[in-house]
Amino acid sequence: MTAPFSWIRPEPRGIHVVPADIWIDPSRAVPRALVTHGHADHARGGHGATIATPATLAIMELRYNTREGAVAAEYGETIALGGGVTATFLPAGHVLGSAQILLEHAGERVIITGDYKRAADPTCAPFAVTPCDIFITEATFGLPVFTHPPIAEEIGKLLAARTANPDSCILVGAYALGKAQRVIAELRAAGHDETIWLHGAMEAMCRLYEDHNVPLGDLKLVSDAPSKDAMRGHIVIAPPAALNDRWSRRLPDPITAMASGWMRVRGRARQRGVELPLVISDHADWNELTRTIGEVNPQETWITHGREEALLRWCELNQRRARALALVGYEDEDD
Ligand SMILES: [Zn+2]
Ligand SMILES: [Zn+2]
Repeated sequence: MTAPFSWIRPEPRGIHVVPADIWIDPSRAVPRALVTHGHADHARGGHGATIATPATLAIMELRYNTREGAVAAEYGETIALGGGVTATFLPAGHVLGSAQILLEHAGERVIITGDYKRAADPTCAPFAVTPCDIFITEATFGLPVFTHPPIAEEIGKLLAARTANPDSCILVGAYALGKAQRVIAELRAAGHDETIWLHGAMEAMCRLYEDHNVPLGDLKLVSDAPSKDAMRGHIVIAPPAALNDRWSRRLPDPITAMASGWMRVRGRARQRGVELPLVISDHADWNELTRTIGEVNPQETWITHGREEALLRWCELNQRRARALALVGYEDEDD
């Protein structure tokens, strides 16, 4: 008889499922990996075999050329990993294809959330609350100060800035995977049907989203604009790194915006020269994190990937067993 949950072992470089010898989101190449979603801190090339949702595999193929050893797991499908362990991929509501992974072994149930959020997102399936014994949650925004406003408010600010500045363009910095497409889809939902101009680095991922039934409307590349004037009064979307580089000189009097949960922190916006901070995140905020732990109601919560201390304290105050894990290499500085 082995000790409860000794089959799942958090190591600095990922979570190891011992009887199946398989790793979750490992930060180095391993023979077999389960990958929650396509962001670079979770998905890496070079694994012998990668099990992930079809959309995550498509994203990984686009970004890392990982075609070999890809094994697709649909949401809700349970697959045997060997060693008496099964895995079921469940929607995480973070980005297209993102999954929580439910692992079961000897009657014990463990969920690894990867990154997740609870707010509605037209570009991906919503987070599925699922009972388990151990809930391993991210904590990127695990401080009470982090509350994300409704996205409609932030999209409203963006559209208002555009109307107020017809001779400029509004340049929005947004993560190329997930955030950019969500901002575009929310602009469309708000009735904005004009051309949205894209940095070249956004093009392939936007096309991938459209191929996965996420319509994004009329998109054009900045490099294809007939003139600067064609972009006046328009919205331009670029990766955060492009906001202050030479590339932006081709834009007509850009007003710099950025869509990130970190925009809640004024100093961060100032540091990056952001004039229009938009608090839009694909991670759970403090209220979503605590609400989710309450709804899932596990025997034990393991906290990783961010600011563990405050959430650990919250669990203690609420008579919930919890521990912080020391995994390395998972940070979402731009999200
Ligand atoms: Zn992520
Ligand atoms: Zn992450």
